[in-house]
Amino acid sequence: MTQATQDNPAVAIIGGGGTGCALAWDLALRGCRVSLFEQGEFTSGTTGRHHGQLHCGARYAVRDRRIAAECLRESLTLRRIAPETIEYNGGFFVAVTDDEAAYGDVFISACLAAGIPARDLPPLEARRVEPGLTPSVRRAVWVPDGTFDTFRLPLSFLAAARRLGASLHPFASVSAIDLRAGRVAGLSWRRADGVERRAAFDCVINAAGAWADSVAALAGGRVPLTPAAGAMLAVRGRLSDLVISRLAPPGDGDIIVPQRGLSIIGSTQRRADSPDGLLPLPEELDFLLRRADELLPAFSAQPRQAAWAAVRPLAGLADGDGRAISRDLALIDHAAEGAAGLLSIVGGKATVLRAMAERAADQACRYLGLSGACRSANYRLPSWREFYQPLPAGSFTPAEPGLELAPC
Ligand SMILES: Cc1cc2nc3c(=O)[nH]c(=O)nc-3n(C[C@H](O)[C@H](O)[C@H](O)COP(=O)(O)OP(=O)(O)OC[C@H]3O[C@@H](n4cnc5c(N)ncnc54)[C@H](O)[C@@H]3O)c2cc1C
Repeated sequence: MTQATQDNPAVAIIGGGGTGCALAWDLALRGCRVSLFEQGEFTSGTTGRHHGQLHCGARYAVRDRRIAAECLRESLTLRRIAPETIEYNGGFFVAVTDDEAAYGDVFISACLAAGIPARDLPPLEARRVEPGLTPSVRRAVWVPDGTFDTFRLPLSFLAAARRLGASLHPFASVSAIDLRAGRVAGLSWRRADGVERRAAFDCVINAAGAWADSVAALAGGRVPLTPAAGAMLAVRGRLSDLVISRLAPPGDGDIIVPQRGLSIIGSTQRRADSPDGLLPLPEELDFLLRRADELLPAFSAQPRQAAWAAVRPLAGLADGDGRAISRDLALIDHAAEGAAGLLSIVGGKATVLRAMAERAADQACRYLGLSGACRSANYRLPSWREFYQPLPAGSFTPAEPGLELAPC
């Protein structure tokens, strides 16, 4: 149901991961008065703990062409609007068995059908490009994968949103959502110092990732979600410049991502009871090291830098580890549960954070009676460095969205 309201309605976003940060920018550009609440530091949820692979979509091409094409589109958009946070590395899908080499034909056809460039490189040539690759390489397929900085990309969105007047609340845990006559009326949050605050809002968007179900429950809503935990392990030394993936259907321990001076192997997948306090299991780390060595034999001999785990907020309910669930995003309107004006956006992946924000913001604007189209793909974002700088007084003009941002 559409609610006619003023030109610059107040919208609250719950969750300062990549999705919430991109939403803050999108909605600020459309003229909303945005407040973003994050219970910890910005990006302290799954966003700050993922692999940092900028998916070109190749990983998903065989199983879901639409998701693959969306990844390609969004990865190209992010390269345009946030080049400072991205490395243009490219990626190899590498076969080390006959079965994997045979799978390469299906893989290349699916990539091309999704519009993703994919081409064979003779094994010797692949090893000239990436000398650390195993001598057992049977087939190598180049695709336009990349990497991005898991923290800096969201911070660039926040720096942009702040220029347009968005108010940002880290260490602010939303504790209640107020309803009046079946509509969202506002919310309460608790600051780190224990002080409770309340404010009125015309619309609330739940971008709380793996916590989204418990946030929706504050208004009597449900978000069907399968929390799937994954472990990752980083070693010192950049063992490849390209993203190295296994030429096989998506599985565990099949991607190595270079991040600055580190190489990161991931991931695993298991059911998580809670997104909080998650640690990798010793057997997961042994498994990851074994798998990494199959692609880059020097991997396990490198000094270890870190190991961690995070939860994928997979949209939908499933038995087991959730491997069967699509990586698609889901937008849930809680009007039918008696909470009109509350939306939840979950699933997807970090590569498509801008598209997730666009989908949620479109729906919020329909509810609020705003007609502005999404423009978040039109401007180059400011540097993430700006997020750490105090805003000079009067440095933004909310009446002029996009001011001082370069169109691209
Ligand atoms: C192991 C692993 C590897 C991955 N690798 C990749 C990859 O290489 N490339 C890729 O594109 N994607 C990857 N993903 C997927 C990607 O990490 C997620 O899809 C994405 O980070 C989710 O972002 P989000 O903003 O929706 O959720 P989150 O980043 O989890 O943000 C939700 C936020 O909500 C906050 N919150 C919760 N409750 C409240 C409350 N009551 N009040 C205020 N704030 C609250 C949380 O603190 C959290 O910060 C990976 C995921 C995993 C688990």
